[in-house]
Amino acid sequence: MVDLVSQYEKIKPAIDSAILDVIQNAQFINGPEVTALKEELEQYLGVKHVIPCANGTDALQIAMMALDLKPGDEVITPSFTYIATTEVIALLGLKPVFVEVNKDTFCVNAEAIEKAITPKTKAIVPVHLYGQAADMNAIMEIAKKQNLFVIEDNAQAIGSDYHLTDGSVVKTGTIGDIGCTSFFPSKNLGCYGDGGAIFTNNDELAEKLRMIANHGQSKKYYHDVVGCNSRLDNIQAAVLRIKLRQLDNYIDSRRNVADYYDGFFGPMKGVQIPFRSHDSKHVFHQYTLILDGHNRDGLSEYLASKDIPSMIYYPVPAHRQKMFASFGSADTNLPTTDWLTERVISLPIHTEMQEEQLERITNSVAEFIG
Ligand SMILES: *Cc1c(COP(=O)(O)O)cnc(C)c1O
Repeated sequence: MVDLVSQYEKIKPAIDSAILDVIQNAQFINGPEVTALKEELEQYLGVKHVIPCANGTDALQIAMMALDLKPGDEVITPSFTYIATTEVIALLGLKPVFVEVNKDTFCVNAEAIEKAITPKTKAIVPVHLYGQAADMNAIMEIAKKQNLFVIEDNAQAIGSDYHLTDGSVVKTGTIGDIGCTSFFPSKNLGCYGDGGAIFTNNDELAEKLRMIANHGQSKKYYHDVVGCNSRLDNIQAAVLRIKLRQLDNYIDSRRNVADYYDGFFGPMKGVQIPFRSHDSKHVFHQYTLILDGHNRDGLSEYLASKDIPSMIYYPVPAHRQKMFASFGSADTNLPTTDWLTERVISLPIHTEMQEEQLERITNSVAEFIG
């Protein structure tokens, strides 16, 4: 699905010397690279505070810990997402309330959020799925009206621009109270191991997030709140600093691949190409088709037989996972989510794709579905 080896080859000298520098300076934790990355990300995203952490799941967990929610408080989230988004809600003793997504954007439906609000609702976690923003203008309006926190799961959309109703353009992950991202290797901005970060424009929240990620520590060996140990290491930060300089180019490459796929699949019957919203710049973490009336799993097997990878993101929506059985969420009626789960297929998309690869993939899809 991705080609991280070819990508590395192009930036090898810079990466190799940056990693070697970290090793020679033997500053592995909280080193200068982490501080520099934090500042460079703040600048790139146009956000006041970036708090690096160990991975995207931790970012979400720390974000939710910072909101001082009580057991049983409800957090509204789409079911059609990667499990991490919803798992941390349950892990903290909160109640995930699963709502429907839009059939076109794959992102959480704002009306469904509004309908799911109860007196116990405290937060909304929209996910910018596959690289395109959720309907943040509507979501922020609901949150403001109902006095709810918004935590953006930006793990798949870093670098995406969003048009606010006031006319300004901002980066996804900087719109809600807190934004979370992952630097997992295959993400649009990925390191060479695990990594993550939390964004906020709120000084007070930033202080709290920083403390929670560091054992609740206010000054060395003084611990004010229960926290965790979640750090980005200096080697990963060094890699990310180099890749951050390439991020906009990487996004362009992904969008070029998406344009090629769109041109090929657009006219095909029963094949829905990704919808592109007016508000959000799609950064194509995934290129995901909806196949209606075609044998989706058969296509996946056919492609595999020709050594072409494809993926189903995600085969089981969160509300149907055994993990949440005790929440009774399987009884939740989410027809669009179920419908999508049976029809989506993601094709290879990355920064190093060659035209001949694209031809082979598209022709193979056409051979199968005609
Ligand atoms: C990758 C991902 C995460 C989790 O990130 P990790 O770094 O793997 O913990 C969370 N949410 C979404 C939507 C993701 O794609």
